This record gives sequence, C-alpha cells and structure tokens, in this order.
Amino acid sequence: MSSSSVAYVVSQDLLKYSSRLPSNPGRSILIHSLANAFGLLSPEYPSTRRLQVISPRLATIEDLSVYHARDYLQAVLHVEETDPESLVEFGLEDDCPRFSGLPEYIRLVAGATITAANTLRSGYTDISINWDGGRHHAQKSRASGFCYVADCVLAILLLKKTHSATASAHVTVQRKPRVMYLDLDVHFSDGVAQAFYSPFSSSSSRQVLTLSIHHAAPGFFPSSPLAQLPFDPSIPFDPFTLSLPLLEGASSKSFAIIWPLIEHIKDIFNPDYVVVQCGVDGLAGDPKCKVFNWSLDMATEGSLGWCVSRIVNEWKGSRKLFLGGGGYHAPNAARAWSYLTSIIVCHSTFLGKPLDISINIPDDPSHTAFPLYAPSFTLNVPAGNMLDTNSPEYLIEVQKKFGRTSEMLQRILQVQQPQPDFQPVSCSH
Ligand SMILES: [Zn+2]
Repeated sequence: MSSSSVAYVVSQDLLKYSSRLPSNPGRSILIHSLANAFGLLSPEYPSTRRLQVISPRLATIEDLSVYHARDYLQAVLHVEETDPESLVEFGLEDDCPRFSGLPEYIRLVAGATITAANTLRSGYTDISINWDGGRHHAQKSRASGFCYVADCVLAILLLKKTHSATASAHVTVQRKPRVMYLDLDVHFSDGVAQAFYSPFSSSSSRQVLTLSIHHAAPGFFPSSPLAQLPFDPSIPFDPFTLSLPLLEGASSKSFAIIWPLIEHIKDIFNPDYVVVQCGVDGLAGDPKCKVFNWSLDMATEGSLGWCVSRIVNEWKGSRKLFLGGGGYHAPNAARAWSYLTSIIVCHSTFLGKPLDISINIPDDPSHTAFPLYAPSFTLNVPAGNMLDTNSPEYLIEVQKKFGRTSEMLQRILQVQQPQPDFQPVSCSH
C-alpha cells in the first residue's frame, strides 16, 4: 500500500455499541452512515490519498492496563457485579452511568484507537481516523465527563514506544518517538493533560507534548488549574503540558490569530506523531455547550476545516491520528466528521477535492437519516450570531505567554529557530 493512505477504523459492532453512549445516543450510526452516503468509504471515491476501511480489534485487559488501574477495569468490565459503593468510587454515576454493553463499548473504542495507532506505527498508513474515539476526560481510575476509557492516553503511550528494527524508518534511531497531542474540543482535555503533566522533569528527552485549545471559566467543565494559560501562579508550569483557553463566542477569526502559536510549538517540538482530538462541540449551534461560535468551512481561515487542512497538508514529517470527541448536535457532528474525512483524504490543491461545503445531504433510500438534517439539508455548519469576546488585549496576552513558552521549549530542546511573525492583533471582533 502507498504510504499516502488513510485508515478509517469502523465496524458494525463499533457503531452499534458507540451508539449506546448515553451522552450521544445514535450519533455513531449517523456519522458513519453519512460518510458512507457521500461515498467517502468506497474504494472508488476520487481522492488523492487512498482510504482503507479497517475493523478494530477488541482491546484486551493487558492493552487497557497499560494506563488504567486494575480495580477500575474490574469494575467497568464486570459492571453488573460491581457494588453501588464502587460505582460511585469509580465515577460510574451522574454523567457516566453504566449502560447495557458498557464492557463491549470500552473494549471496542479503545481497540479502535489502538488499531488506528498501530497502522501508523507499522508504517501501513500515514493518517488514521477513529471518530468514535477521543475520550479525553477519562482518568486512570475513574470515568468522567461522558468518558469511560482513556483511548487518547493509550494511543500516546503506544506511539511513544521505541520502534523495533522492522518498524517504520521515518523515526530516526537517535531519539525516541515524539508525540504531540492537540485537542480542539471545547472542553479542556483534563484526562490527557493529567496523564503526562510533569512539571519537574523538563528535559530534551520528554516524548509527549499536550496542547489543548478550549473554554475555561468558573463552573465550566472540567475544573482544573491545568486549563489556564501558561505561567498560572496556582500550579507549577510544565512547558510540555499546554493550555490555550479562549473566551466565549470564539470564532474562526480568533482561531486564525492563535493558530501560528500552535504551529510554532509544533515546529519546535518536531513530533513524529500528531494525535488530534477533533471534538466538534465548539462548532456554532451545539445544544449542550453553546460557548464557541466556530465554523466548519475550510475556505474561512481559522475554521475547523481550515485547521485540519493545515495539519494534514502542511504539517510535514509526522504521522497523524485523528480522533473524535464531544459534539451534541448529532447531525452536525456527522456533517463535521464527514467533511473532515473528505479534507483528510483529498489534498486541497490536487484532483479529488474535499466535499463542497454547500453540497446537499444525500437523499436516497439507503440513507434513512436524511430527515434529521432539516432544515438546511446541506453539509455546512455555519457560524451563528454570537459575539466573539476574545478581545485584542486578551489575544495579545495569549501571544505573549505562548511566546515565553516557545522560548522555554527552544532552550530545553536546544532548537535554533527565529520567532515567527505573528499576525498582529489590531482589529476588534
Ligand atoms: Zn467536549
């Protein structure tokens, strides 16, 4: 297989059990049905990167134990036998209730992300996708925020393992693989950040850098001192565990301003793998979050589609794992992830362009979910009318703190790089 190929991990079992997730009932079926209705999963789809549909394997206890505590796994994988006190202890209540098929769900979602990561490690593909993954709130011994299994952490731990002699040759033998985790969900990736936060061990041998762009405010889930801008006085700073909180109404315009900061950190860290959590609950119109006013159309600088296009087409020299995440307007999540799939498989400047954002949702007998896409019945998720409260002053503060962070990282990693010319923040919006 050509190395410029994409693995799309899905199976009937994965979508069946993912569709039972209490926070997102039926969403997984919509996502994969829409991608299929657009023909994206067909070998004949005209794209510049070949898409290969791959079935996930079930994660074993050994796979899950690489991160999760044994007593937590015992509780969630044998949940019918778990006593009520332990359910509370392990977070299996409120927003993480037990549900029919929970053990299968955990083994399938983790197995799908592990399968996707392994296609990258082996060199089978350059890019892998698991839209059912991205469970970034799950902790070592606790379910949290609709997340029962820490598949992002498991993937990072797998990707940072030293390659065997038969594995891909793209990672130099002089250094261990570096993994950058970038989280685009509106919520802070507390589970992933906590797993790798290590403020007193900054050295050039650090293999994992996490960077979460999200909303943080009192009362907004999850509450964590790690969710603040760099150099927050409440917690020791780790330049490899980064947060970039944006204020209410964040639009593509604000994302366009902060994006060069993200790319500069990426250039300094120079990762071998990039894991991107593409939660879509920051898109305009999310019924549960209602915080950001982000748009999808890649023609708009700073949009979700534009950011993913940058990662896929401009971030050279690294293999990419795209995961799902939050997104509580199920048809919009299906729209977004189908569109992102088309961006990922189609280089924007060659034949086989991504889906046209104004294209109609397929209305054929095999796509029975069509009525759910009312009233627009098109692919686009446009921005709404919410005011972007990220003022020029705030964005300048973000630029300054990330500038200092970049300098720290350059010193630690001994990288000689000039500071880029960041887009000046002058316009109000
Ligand atoms: Zn979220």
